Amino acid sequence: MKRQLDKFTLTALFDAEIVVIGEVPWIAGGRSIQLDYDDIEPFCDNKITWIAKKEGVTVKDFEQWLEAGGDPICVGYLNSGKPCSRKVFQVRGLPVREWVEFEGYCRKHGGET
Ligand SMILES: [Zn+2]
Repeated sequence: MKRQLDKFTLTALFDAEIVVIGEVPWIAGGRSIQLDYDDIEPFCDNKITWIAKKEGVTVKDFEQWLEAGGDPICVGYLNSGKPCSRKVFQVRGLPVREWVEFEGYCRKHGGET
């Protein structure tokens, strides 16, 4: 159900310089981010979509990054043709954008670990 935001109250809060903090899922717990006025509606709508867009990644990438705890995944392929899903442990806990752009291999696929 889509919540109808009370713009009058929101404007009054921001005019009074009341700071609005949003909590999003993040590796190693959550992350608190200060929201601008224009962030409120998309954040309330879907905070995952909002943070993924803010970080410049897709929702799917963001969710996979969360699940991997920021540890990069091997970009090699298995004999079956499926993507290798082993972690590449020489790098850990990458920020989401770097995680998405990371191209490294597990030991089996020629990496160091
Ligand atoms: Zn691999």
